[in-house]
Amino acid sequence: MAQSTNETTLRPVFEEDDLELPVERLRVEQPAGRRTGCPFHDVREMLREVGLRPTRQRLALGWLMFAKGDRHITAESLHEEALRARFPVSLATVYNTLHQFTEANLLREVAVDGSKTYFDTNASDHHHFYVEGQNELLDIPGAEVMVDRMPTPPEGFEVARVDVVVRLRRKQQS
Ligand SMILES: [Zn+2]
Repeated sequence: MAQSTNETTLRPVFEEDDLELPVERLRVEQPAGRRTGCPFHDVREMLREVGLRPTRQRLALGWLMFAKGDRHITAESLHEEALRARFPVSLATVYNTLHQFTEANLLREVAVDGSKTYFDTNASDHHHFYVEGQNELLDIPGAEVMVDRMPTPPEGFEVARVDVVVRLRRKQQS
């Protein structure tokens, strides 16, 4: 993951503008557009703002992840969506892209347990419910979680943020 964001500055800028993007193939339901309404333009802008080179993969994957509004995805689910949209990309590329977007603060990583990592297209501060057994991550609305006593961080550290994952299970029938 170390090679991720720095490549932008190290390589000559080649924006691949002349390449044909698989826009048509990627069209799905209407996006929840919060910017210009043109998702590809928005993703390109978004990448530019954070200094990531708008490569074909980043544009296509970025469009796939952000065009449906706020949601939680995994590398596997995004990979599947890409293949379904006939955008041939390897799972490794999907992983790399997700991590690059996360480092650029376009996504937020939510690690539920050792094996399951979700990426949240809503990078703002919020907490989550996790439905055990269903592998489902849900936003906890608004300010419903209160962390009333912060632990004192070790010398030389400060608290960067607090991620709360509240695990849920179905009530037992009695
Ligand atoms: Zn969320």
